[in-house]
Amino acid sequence: MADIVFRNVTKRYGNTIAVDDASFTVNDNEFFCFFGPPLSGKSTILRLVLGLESPDAGEILIGGRPVNAVSPAERNVAMVFQNLALFPHMSALDNVRFPLVERGVAELQIKKRVADVAAKLHIGHILHKPPAQLSGGERQRVAIARALVRDPNAYLMDDPISALDARLREETRVELKRIQRELGKTLIYVTHDQEEAMSIADRIAILDNGKIRQIGAPAEIYDRPASTYVARLLGSPVMNILKSARGVGGIEAAEGTIRIADKAAPVDAVEIGLRPEDIKVRPWADGGQGRPARVFEVEPLGGYTVVTLAAGQARLKALLRGQPDIRPDAMVAISCEPARVHYFGQSGGALAR
Ligand code: ADP
Repeated sequence: MADIVFRNVTKRYGNTIAVDDASFTVNDNEFFCFFGPPLSGKSTILRLVLGLESPDAGEILIGGRPVNAVSPAERNVAMVFQNLALFPHMSALDNVRFPLVERGVAELQIKKRVADVAAKLHIGHILHKPPAQLSGGERQRVAIARALVRDPNAYLMDDPISALDARLREETRVELKRIQRELGKTLIYVTHDQEEAMSIADRIAILDNGKIRQIGAPAEIYDRPASTYVARLLGSPVMNILKSARGVGGIEAAEGTIRIADKAAPVDAVEIGLRPEDIKVRPWADGGQGRPARVFEVEPLGGYTVVTLAAGQARLKALLRGQPDIRPDAMVAISCEPARVHYFGQSGGALAR
């Protein structure tokens, strides 16, 4: 068992609170992701798990054992640093063996671990080659094998694929997810890329200035963000957030930009959030089912199209399927199903409808 638990952990550097009263449980075998802007405390949390830093307050447990006073070596948690690059002068095999050789592991044990990892990563047939003779994808798999060849209680990864180009990043994250599932290991992963966090994690913790703002499965956080802060972090384009007030028959947002006929809308809502994919856009000529808006910009992206709309006092982004016949300056009618609307109160917290 290698669940990792933080109980009210705080870490300060001088006047900076890097981690602020953080409590969470990473379950055994879970792919757990920390996501937040730069300097929000992600790396500090990893260093606290590793034992490279000790908390000023609170308790850390690994596999049920309190580890505040336990050395990094004894915690048996493996850190995979940012760079997954290979040593160019060594064969793939020697690259994979390296972390075990370095630790003085017995040869028999090394052979067994390497064979095991090579089988899981499907790289047995290329291990004799030097990195220069491998394709980009093969090099990544070898690098992941080297990162995973030790058999620790848990792996920690700090933005491990951010240096790769976009296509390789997409391939590698799929691979990482599959490997983690097969290895059945606890993995704590840090990224600053929201799409990566959404696609790869079983659960995500959202950080803001050292505070954990929300923890949940990607779909749960996306569908039910706990605050405007979280709502704005996930999704592309980001959620439209508009000032709102109660009007006749429901909610009026941004002085009439859009009307939501929702009798169940919470009375203390001061803002509403509309995901771009939830905004319905129809030609105005169809009888004006909704509020009028002018098309400001159209971005056709192949499978979908982002339309920026100027409506009332606001700019909105809508995400439409395919490549609809919409031109800049056209008049359209916009609306949104009440059930798809997010409501937020005075302090930015989500409100139940
Ligand atoms: P992230 O990984 O999300 O970018 P960090 O955990 O690196 O965030 O940093 C969190 C906060 O702690 C930041 O304000 C950063 O400046 C501060 N910090 C991190 N490490 C140190 C350190 N060794 N000394 C002083 N301040 C630090």
